[in-house]
Amino acid sequence: MHECCGVFGVYAPNEDVARLTFFALFALQHRGQESAGIATTDGRKFQVYAKMGLVSQVFDEDSLSQLIGDIAIGHNRYSTRGSSRLSNAQPMIVGKGSNSIAIAHNGNIINAEHLYEELSDQGYTFRTSTDTEVIANLIISSTERNWIDRIRYAMRRLQGAYSLALLTHDRLFGVRGPLGVRPLCLGAINGGWVLASESCALDHIGADFIREIEPGEIVSISANGIESYREEVDRRALCIFEYIYFARPDSTINGRLLYQARQAMGAGLAEEHPVDADLVMGVPDSATAAGVGYALRSGVPLAEGLIKNRYVGRTFIEPDQRIRDLGVKLKFNPLPQVLGGKRVVLVDDSIVRGTTTPQVVRLVRRAGAKEVHMRICAPPLRYPCFFGVDMATQWELIAAQKTVPEVRDFIGADSLGHLSVDGLIKAVALPKDIFCLACFTGDYPIPVQIGMDKLALEIMPSAQQAPFGVKQR
Ligand code: SF4
Repeated sequence: MHECCGVFGVYAPNEDVARLTFFALFALQHRGQESAGIATTDGRKFQVYAKMGLVSQVFDEDSLSQLIGDIAIGHNRYSTRGSSRLSNAQPMIVGKGSNSIAIAHNGNIINAEHLYEELSDQGYTFRTSTDTEVIANLIISSTERNWIDRIRYAMRRLQGAYSLALLTHDRLFGVRGPLGVRPLCLGAINGGWVLASESCALDHIGADFIREIEPGEIVSISANGIESYREEVDRRALCIFEYIYFARPDSTINGRLLYQARQAMGAGLAEEHPVDADLVMGVPDSATAAGVGYALRSGVPLAEGLIKNRYVGRTFIEPDQRIRDLGVKLKFNPLPQVLGGKRVVLVDDSIVRGTTTPQVVRLVRRAGAKEVHMRICAPPLRYPCFFGVDMATQWELIAAQKTVPEVRDFIGADSLGHLSVDGLIKAVALPKDIFCLACFTGDYPIPVQIGMDKLALEIMPSAQQAPFGVKQR
C-alpha cells in the first residue's frame, strides 16, 4: 500500500530556501520515492528542478545553487494518478507571466476527468496526465481578481483529497482541502514560515511546529506576514492510515505522536486478541511500535526476529527471476536463533491483497517458529480508497473476498486478529468523526459509486456541483 506524496513550502528571506527544502524533502522521503523536485522564486521568475529518483539522487550542490530566491516549494512523488515519468514530476509551473503558479500536491482529485474536459473545452492545454495540473489550471482559469479568491473558486469545484503548497512570484500558499484527508502543518523558522506534510520535516530543519493547517483553510505567506482564510466544513475525513502506517513515527498529527498512537494500537490488539506466546515482534519498521505496545500490555517478551534491510531505498535495477523468487527475503532476514521453537506473536500494520503476509509468515516458520499468531493494527480492509492511496481494487482486497478465518488459513498463521474500528479510534485517542474510515466501513465522506474495479468509480451527479464543504451521505 502506498501513499501519494510529500509536500513542503518555505518563506524565509534570511535562509537558503532551496537547501532547507532539500533537507525537508529528505525527511519526507517515505511519502514518495519516484521523483523529487524544488521550485523557487526570486520575485520575478520561477526556477524549478525535478527529476526521477530519490531526493539524495536528484539534487547536488550544483542544482541547489541554481534554485535562488526567498520562497520555495518541494515535492516527493508517488504516482496515484498519472504515470511515473519525468513530465509528471512536481512541483510543476502552470500558466504564463503574472498569471502563473508553481504547485506541489498530495492527494487525489476524484472529479479530475470532469474538470479536465471542462478546462480543455475552454482552451486550457495540459502537458501532463496528473490531477495536479487540473488543480493549477482551475486556479488560473478563475476570473477572480486576487489569488485567495481564485484558490477559493478552485476549492469549490474540487472533489477529493488535496493538501497543496503553491507559489506565486511573491507569495507562498498552503491549502488543505475541506475534508482534510491529507495532513499539512505550519512551522516557523528564523523569522520565516514553513509548510510541511508532516512535522518530522520541521524537526529536521530546526523549525518550530506552530499548528496544523485546518481542513478548508488557506494560509497566505508574504512580505506582509501570514494570513489565514477558513471556510466552514461539514465533515472532516483525515485518513486514519496516516496514523497506522503512512506518517513517520516521530511525526505528530493533531497533537498525537504517531509512535505513541501505534504503541496504543499494539496494546489494543493485546486486549482484543490475547494469546499464549513466547515472544512478540512487530514487522519492521511500520509495526515496530505496535509490537512494543503489544508486549508491554500482554507481558509477553519483545524480540527482534526479522532484520530489515534499511539501506537499499528504491532501486531502478530490476532483480532477476532467481532473486525475485526470494520474495520478502530481499527485505527481511529472519533470525533462527531468536525464533527457533518459539510461539511468536507477529504484529503488522495491515493486510491488503494478502500477497506479502503469507511470505512473512512462511519466513518466520522456516526460521523455526513453532506457532505464528498474526495481529493486525488495521481492521479488515473491505473497500477501495478513492483518495489517493494506491491500495487495490475491491476484488483484490483479500478481506473483501474472504472471512477472517479464511484469511488466517490463506496466510498460514495459527491465529489472526485485527484491531476493531473502535479499538483503533481508542488508540489514536481523537474524535472518531474527524477521520475517514471508509476502507473499513464503506462509509465514504463524499458520495461515490463503487464498482468491482476502481475504474468503475463514478461520482454521484449531485456531488459534481456540491458547494464548498461537500454534502455527506
Ligand atoms: S479510504 Fe482508507 S486509505 Fe483511503 S483515505 Fe479513507 S481511511 Fe485513508
